[in-house]
Amino acid sequence: MLSHQYSITQIQQIIGASATITHDSMVNNLLTDSRKINNPFTSLFFALSGRRDGHEFIGDVYQAGVRNFVVFKLPVKVDLLRDANFLVVDDVLKALQKLAIHHREKFDIDVIGITGSNGKTIVKEWLYQLLCADKKIIRNPKSYNSQIGVPLSVWQMDDQHNLGIFEAGISTTGEMERLERMIKPTIGILTHMGSAHDEGFSGPEKKLEEKLKLFTHCSMVIYQYDALLKYKARVPGKTKFTWSRKFREVDLYVFNETIISNKYYLRGVFKGKEIECLVPFIDEASIENAIVCWATMLALGYDSQVADDRLERLVPVSMRMELKQGINNCSIIDDSYNSDFQSLEIALNFLNQQNQHQTRTLILSDIFQSGLEQAVLYQQVADLLSQKNIDKVIGVGKAISAQQQLFNIPLKYFYADTDSLLMALADLTLEDETILIKGSRSFEFERISRALVQKAHETIMEINLNALQNNLNFYKSKLGPDVKIMAMVKAFSYGSGSFEVANLLQFNGVDYLAVAYIDEGIALRNAGITLPIMVLNPEASAFDKLVEFTLQPEIYSFTLFDEFVKFAQLKNIFNYPIHIKIDSGMHRLGFEDFEIETLCDLLEQNQYVHIQSIFSHLAGSDAEMHDEFTLKQIMVFEKAYHQIEKVLNYKVMRHMANTSAITRWPVAQFDMVRLGIGLYGIDSAIKNEANQLQPVATLKTSVSQVKKIKAGETIGYNRNGSLLADGKIATVRIGYADGYLRAFGNGVGKMLIKGVLVPTVGNVSMDMCMLDVSAVEVKEGDEVVVFNEEYKIEEVAKQINTIPYEILTNVSQRVKRVYFYE
Ligand SMILES: *Cc1c(COP(=O)(O)O)cnc(C)c1O
Repeated sequence: MLSHQYSITQIQQIIGASATITHDSMVNNLLTDSRKINNPFTSLFFALSGRRDGHEFIGDVYQAGVRNFVVFKLPVKVDLLRDANFLVVDDVLKALQKLAIHHREKFDIDVIGITGSNGKTIVKEWLYQLLCADKKIIRNPKSYNSQIGVPLSVWQMDDQHNLGIFEAGISTTGEMERLERMIKPTIGILTHMGSAHDEGFSGPEKKLEEKLKLFTHCSMVIYQYDALLKYKARVPGKTKFTWSRKFREVDLYVFNETIISNKYYLRGVFKGKEIECLVPFIDEASIENAIVCWATMLALGYDSQVADDRLERLVPVSMRMELKQGINNCSIIDDSYNSDFQSLEIALNFLNQQNQHQTRTLILSDIFQSGLEQAVLYQQVADLLSQKNIDKVIGVGKAISAQQQLFNIPLKYFYADTDSLLMALADLTLEDETILIKGSRSFEFERISRALVQKAHETIMEINLNALQNNLNFYKSKLGPDVKIMAMVKAFSYGSGSFEVANLLQFNGVDYLAVAYIDEGIALRNAGITLPIMVLNPEASAFDKLVEFTLQPEIYSFTLFDEFVKFAQLKNIFNYPIHIKIDSGMHRLGFEDFEIETLCDLLEQNQYVHIQSIFSHLAGSDAEMHDEFTLKQIMVFEKAYHQIEKVLNYKVMRHMANTSAITRWPVAQFDMVRLGIGLYGIDSAIKNEANQLQPVATLKTSVSQVKKIKAGETIGYNRNGSLLADGKIATVRIGYADGYLRAFGNGVGKMLIKGVLVPTVGNVSMDMCMLDVSAVEVKEGDEVVVFNEEYKIEEVAKQINTIPYEILTNVSQRVKRVYFYE
């Protein structure tokens, strides 16, 4: 029996719920997201109320086969949900946490608890790498460190484990005590203290105090001595293990640091003896995290030689999946850094969210350190793949190959090792499918990824899908009840990609999408998008396509109206959904005030169209100087809306607000808002002091060549550029054909190399431009950032007196998009 298996009545007692129990049932999976159901019959769904109320999804979850629920209130139509068990509690989240606390108490093992502002996940993953040789470790998947993530992680603990490593993340006071009770660490680690999440606390002192609560019951706490000197708070724990790079009177004193051929050599004093270690990273954050791990190994009693050996073999931790364009029209989801059961599940959910191709393929290596017997482990994997509708599995490794009979998948192929697969790759004819690459580190699946991904020139735009999801949630939290969201994905989602973004939005419950032209809508339909899609500027010549792909036209003029109605008559189409655009002052498209009466006459009794919505667009919703005008637009729009509504005998949606109106003009939210640039992290109406919005796009390129230039020598076309003193220039792989406009030339634009902003010099060419790097240590191949989350698009746009919209949408299709998701 699995040790995280409980009967429903046991759980009822543990969480103190009143209950409607129709049948006894065993539970071994906890579920909080209705979209991520794997084993419905043994799952218990917690109806948490976050931005959406989990109770709304009970019907869906029941449909999927789940019969056990923890709720705050019984569903209204509970009679329809026959043979379901309901546990009713006052606070669903607390019930989840209570269950985790109970579960944790069953195990008397060492647990390392990690907190801090930065580095928690890296330290956790590295400690896993360092200690897994002699421990069976349970840890949070990815960075599941929140009030919900922690109980779900702790729940996975079972009899085989003899060490836990859990990270705890908090954003406000009161949270850590609850995390502490679930994690119950016996050893504490405090990583780097920075200013992240400061806004949730009354000050840094308070934040530290709160974090230290994780260590209340620890017998030992490991931390950097000097980082806490400026605070009053006392560190709990019987024993302290301190480290420092400045002070001698600590347990591990690091007194010497040098870079040796791209590795970092550290020398320290521990117990009066000189020790050393070499780590394979040279950036400051990695070094600090590595020292934390070094200190931890010593604190745990590892020999310094063993610690050194293992630290030298640390590998980078990548928590993010990359979605890229592959060869033969495939999409590649690259998650080739780790492979355990839980991260496989997370990756498969992401695969299921991306619907652009019919065929879903998984390339999977052996899974190590699961602690389960091979047959049991791969049976679980096989079941998971069936549930996730995998069409093709390609197994790599001796262990998975030995269990191939377990996989009940339409197409399956097995190879002993990565080389054999690489040799057979051409014969597999991977074509027009979504391929998830998931492998343990030692299988070097990056080689497979390289073989399958389209070669890009080295300028790429990275899109952070988590940030996009965060931004969507931010705006959801600003909406009145029942206000819907239409996401504007015109112009390749403002340059950020088409179906990749649309699939994410669809998965996250957006109500509508809007594109500019019919072609864009067709591309989305071909990629599996089923949401209603409005077309802002439909061409009459493509109405047949519009109807074939169930796209809904915006009708903005009598001409367009006539054309569409004629088309519908001809094709015998009735009640086709359309949207009426009102010109309330923008003077771009739409019916004007004086035209509304005629429009009403046409609409009355018209059986060919069905008005889905009436809408208008604001010309200056972001700026105070236009507020009076905006108000007038709202009034003009409302008048037109009511006039039209009166002649229709059905309810019609009304919408007007674009991004900045959502927060600046809540009265204009009406039935729906049209969210555009805000999704991509840009909104001039949001001060963004608390970083509620996150930049989504990073554009980067690389250095092709570095040249020494004498003062006065000319650089580039028309000999426009030169340096004032002798210096150096770097030629980088981006030009106006990529969207780096010529206006950025001659020092107007700047790029970021090694953290330093450097100006362009001379004219921008079609595919390249030159930067003055006299002041920076630069070599060929170095990365160059055009914009990212720190060096923002807004700033770049200002350099050439334009707006972020134009910078984003100018990035040409030649620049490959890579999507990240954690
Ligand atoms: C582009 C567009 C929007 C979105 O505007 P943002 O400022 O990007 O939010 C909304 N409505 C219409 C009609 C648009 O064309």
